[in-house]
Amino acid sequence: MPVLFVCMFFFHLADYMARNVKRLSMTAISLVFFAVYSSFSFPMFISNAGFNAGDISIDADSGELELSENLVEDGESEEADELSKFGHDVVEDDNTADIDALLADVENTEGNATDEPDAGISENTTDKEELYDYSDYDFSRDDWRLILINKQHSIPENYEFPIDNITNDMQCDARLKDDLLDMFKAANAEGVSLEIRSPYRTHMHQQENFDKRMETYIRKGYSYVEAFQRTSRAITVPGHSEHEVGLAFDITCTGYYNLDEAFFKTAAGTWLYENSYKYGFILRYPKDKEYITGIEFEPWHYRYVGVEAATYMTLNDMCMEEFWGERF
Ligand SMILES: [Zn+2]
Repeated sequence: MPVLFVCMFFFHLADYMARNVKRLSMTAISLVFFAVYSSFSFPMFISNAGFNAGDISIDADSGELELSENLVEDGESEEADELSKFGHDVVEDDNTADIDALLADVENTEGNATDEPDAGISENTTDKEELYDYSDYDFSRDDWRLILINKQHSIPENYEFPIDNITNDMQCDARLKDDLLDMFKAANAEGVSLEIRSPYRTHMHQQENFDKRMETYIRKGYSYVEAFQRTSRAITVPGHSEHEVGLAFDITCTGYYNLDEAFFKTAAGTWLYENSYKYGFILRYPKDKEYITGIEFEPWHYRYVGVEAATYMTLNDMCMEEFWGERF
C-alpha cells in the first residue's frame, strides 16, 4: 500500500507540474534574476581583498625581481582553499633584498640622492591636532594626484602619465617617485624596512591576471557570470585599478609577504598608517569605510594623492570617496 501511495503522489505531482509548467518556469527564472541582480547591486557585501595577483619579490642573489601569483589571505578561507588547489601559493621567499639595497640601487643609477630631512609636517609627532590640515587649500578635481578610480569610475580613456623606474622592474608615475623614496627612507631610518609587493601594472598585465583567474574558474565548471563575479572579488576589473596609473602600491615589509589584515598590526603596517600622509600617501581602503569604498580593508594598499590632500583626508578621517563628495 505505501508504495501505491508514493506512486500516486508522484503521479499527481508530475501531473501538477505538467499543467503549470509555464508558471513554474517563470518563478524559477525570476528567482535566478533576483539572485544575479542582488549580487551585483550590493558590492559592499562581496569580499574584495586579494586583488593583488602578480606580486613581486626580489631574489637577493641575482637582484632580479620575480613575479608570482600571490594569494591574499582575506579571511575568505573558502576562496583561499580553492585557489591554493590551483597552485596560487603564498609567497614565502626569504631571499628578498631589503630597501637599503633597493634605495642604493636607485641612487647609484640616478645619482640624485635626496638626503635632506623632511620639513614641516613630517616632524615626528602623533598629535594630529597641532598639524595644519590644508582645509583652505584650493583642491582641483583636475589635479592628476586626485583622480578618482574605483568600481564606478574607470580610468579615463586617454589618460597619460610619465613613467619612471623605481628599480629595474618596478615602475610608478614619475611625478611621485621622490615622495615615495622619501617615505621609504624615513621608514628605514626608524628601523622599518618597507618593501613594494606590487607597483605599477600595465593594463595588459591587469587584463592577463584577470583573464587567467577567469579561465581557472570556467575550467572548474563555473558559468561565465559566476566566474566573473568570483574573479572580480579577488582582482580589480581591468580599467578600474589604481595600479594601472602608477599611483598605487602594495607595500609590506621584509619578512612579511602576505597581503592580509594582520599586516596592519606589524610595525611596518602601523608606521605606514601613521606616517604615510606626510609623503602624500593614504591608506586607500580603511577598515571603517568598507561600506563607502566597496572594498575590504587593505592595510597594504597605499595611494598617492599629494601631501595636501593626504594630510587633509588623514586628519579629517576621510576616505577618497568622502573627500570627493565634500570637495568636488
Ligand atoms: Zn593594491
